[in-house]
Amino acid sequence: MTNAPVPKPWIMEIAPYIPGRSTTDDGRKVAKLSSNENPLGTSPKAREAFASAATSLERYPDASATELRDTLAAKHGLDPARIIYGNGSDEVLHLAAGAFAGPGDEVIYVNYGFSVYPIATRRVGATPVVAPDKDYATDVDAILAAVTDRTRIVFIANPNNPTGTYAPRGEIERLHAGLRPDILLVIDHAYAEYIDGGDDDGGMALAQNAPNVLVTRTFSKMYGLAAERIGWGYAAPAIIEAMHRIRLPFSITIAGTAAAVAALGDTDFVASTRDHNAQWRAWFADEIAKLGNAGLRAIPSQANFILVLFEGELTAETAYKGLMDAGYIVRWLPGQGLPHGLRITIGTAEETQGVIAALRRMAGA
Ligand code: PMP
Repeated sequence: MTNAPVPKPWIMEIAPYIPGRSTTDDGRKVAKLSSNENPLGTSPKAREAFASAATSLERYPDASATELRDTLAAKHGLDPARIIYGNGSDEVLHLAAGAFAGPGDEVIYVNYGFSVYPIATRRVGATPVVAPDKDYATDVDAILAAVTDRTRIVFIANPNNPTGTYAPRGEIERLHAGLRPDILLVIDHAYAEYIDGGDDDGGMALAQNAPNVLVTRTFSKMYGLAAERIGWGYAAPAIIEAMHRIRLPFSITIAGTAAAVAALGDTDFVASTRDHNAQWRAWFADEIAKLGNAGLRAIPSQANFILVLFEGELTAETAYKGLMDAGYIVRWLPGQGLPHGLRITIGTAEETQGVIAALRRMAGA
């Protein structure tokens, strides 16, 4: 007998999630380019809806999120009964692991995958299986080769975080076609709205038609509502029904839901965010390419951030500290196997240009 409660051994294997920082070690507030938030802020319509919904604070929210589901269904041409929602798409990912994996089961994700997948996997006592990447991108053949009789879930983010890489529709369909139908394929579309040419890359079509595909989406990125924690998922009825069994009854708030519904209607805000991101993402990648002689390399991104590798004299760690001194916090990811990389969110025009100017200085260009 021990003299204190003993955490489950698989919980102790979890490396806790490290959120993006917004201040320096000495407490200075700097431009935050570490969490892939929307540099243009939030839709004014969403702000208004949020303010006017924050009234009856003593009331519980609508536990079935009917208005949110109906609005999403109308916008995307979906069945509202097949939509699940959660406290950010993080919660939806946890629900998937909780409902479909447990001790003795395996869950596959790619090397340099999103850091919540190992947490969600280990939390339920399942075993993580990491499929090798192909030059930082998702390798469908490697995922398929990692499947065993024990595989229960495959998580992929498309575009992926922290690499920003994107697997085209055909690859996702090939992955799905190669999986047994009892394996749940979770397609995490947190950054779907940033894909060149729009977000219809076939994930939703698979979720509409296949019994084993869950697509997850979020209001935290393009819709500028990270503070309100609203995410959602779409899958076959049996998948959704199982996830509902373990959902917290009231994990999304009244005001946050009202903001999300209004944000869906503000197509101007979404279009300007998309245009801004496409313009500055391309500019940023071009500028990094010009620093190729100093060993800097941008991994091609379809998201609202770019992974920059430092393969020359200037190291990612030095650049991370230098950027912090210059007033920009970005994400250095040694804990995710990327001690040589910085993930940098596309910020405002001024911030993006400022980051490049600082990197140029440090690279001696
Ligand atoms: N998936 C991916 C790939 C992400 O990068 C993020 C945000 N860090 C999420 C899911 C979760 O976002 P949220 O919980 O804010 O919806």
